[in-house]
Amino acid sequence: MHTVDVVVVGAGLAGLHTARLLAQQELNVLVVDRRRSLASGIRTTGIFVRRTLEAFDLPDHLLGPGVRDVLLYPPSRRGPIRLSSGRDEYRVADMAGVYEYAHKAAVSAGARVLLGVRYACAARGLVRFEGAEPVRARFIVGADGAYSRVARDLGLDVNRRFLVGAEIVHPVASGTTTPAFHCVLDPRVAPGYLGWVIDDGRHAHVGVAGYPKAMRTGVRHLLDDFAADAPGRAAPTGPLERRGGPIPVGGVLRRLACPEGLLVGDSAGAVSPLTAGGLDPCLRMSELAASVAVDYLRTGEPSMLDRYDGGAFRRRFRGRLLLRNMFAGIRSPVAAEAAVALLRGPAGRAGRAVAERILFGDGSFPDVEQARPAGRA
Ligand SMILES: Cc1cc2nc3c(=O)[nH]c(=O)nc-3n(C[C@H](O)[C@H](O)[C@H](O)COP(=O)(O)OP(=O)(O)OC[C@H]3O[C@@H](n4cnc5c(N)ncnc54)[C@H](O)[C@@H]3O)c2cc1C
Repeated sequence: MHTVDVVVVGAGLAGLHTARLLAQQELNVLVVDRRRSLASGIRTTGIFVRRTLEAFDLPDHLLGPGVRDVLLYPPSRRGPIRLSSGRDEYRVADMAGVYEYAHKAAVSAGARVLLGVRYACAARGLVRFEGAEPVRARFIVGADGAYSRVARDLGLDVNRRFLVGAEIVHPVASGTTTPAFHCVLDPRVAPGYLGWVIDDGRHAHVGVAGYPKAMRTGVRHLLDDFAADAPGRAAPTGPLERRGGPIPVGGVLRRLACPEGLLVGDSAGAVSPLTAGGLDPCLRMSELAASVAVDYLRTGEPSMLDRYDGGAFRRRFRGRLLLRNMFAGIRSPVAAEAAVALLRGPAGRAGRAVAERILFGDGSFPDVEQARPAGRA
């Protein structure tokens, strides 16, 4: 039977990035994913915010043109609020290309990646799969998404609060649209969150997300209703792709690590509770996760895992969790209309400034540098 230092379950961005960092530290790393191809079953719009692109080396050719304007609409769709930045704030990635790039980077660093292999269970260092022989592993990284099985098997915390999101993606004819991010606050189509259209001049992504229990029909029906007259939507010029999945929005989980393993990305609840963005968090958290795992595996000292403390991250997110609850409290179209109206005109200046800080701000998630002991690179 094979023995490895680390099994990483999940070849999403969190798993592949963590695997690359661990393999760069000469650890013997095996990554498994149940998907047969990383270009299939994509669950994200792929909007990367400016601060992520400044911090991580994503190749430019995998990113669409920059988007600087956000338009916020009430349920009536009348009189949207326009918020504009002087910089490119959002770029939508070719996610199949990004996963392929992250896959190659992990493999070049020395990790072995097995696709079409499902993690089944782990106990006392023995990890079993469907589609591959079991292995012995010193440590498991659960990067297996919002409904993490690894979290349950290791007795770590699990996500309990979710939005569910769905979107369609299609190409648009060049020069026919103005790049913008249209956000619709309407609890009838997106209870507790937003409907969106992001069009960067090459592709349009039209989506909705919300609390599943508050949806009057399934998310796919709501998406079809929304897409029929979504603001800023351009005519498709190519095939439609459908994407969707759960989004954990209860904040980073408290108990993320134990001597058998740790969690990263969605499995750790590392999604901004307010914006539901998880790509920046999963990359940043992977850096800390890898650094903690390396220290622990080198020393065998369980106290090394204390640095990976979900409770500390949660404290930094109190404000965002509060705003999430306020967002979730907008339950009627009248309340949503009033909330957008509060941002209009001179009286709405302070509200617009808060919205701009959330949408265009420099804060990052989680602030991993603060969690490192003094003196570490
Ligand atoms: C519709 C939608 C749109 C979104 N849009 C954005 C956005 O534009 N910007 C943003 O920042 N965030 C967005 N998010 C959130 C973001 O996509 C996620 O937070 C992020 O992709 C999480 O990455 P991950 O690697 O942790 O998890 P995932 O990408 O979910 O990867 C988990 C992997 O684990 C694998 N897996 C699961 N169980 C097993 C098993 N038992 N055995 C083997 N493999 C397994 C899965 O196949 C999957 O490949 C969106 C989410 C949704 C649902």
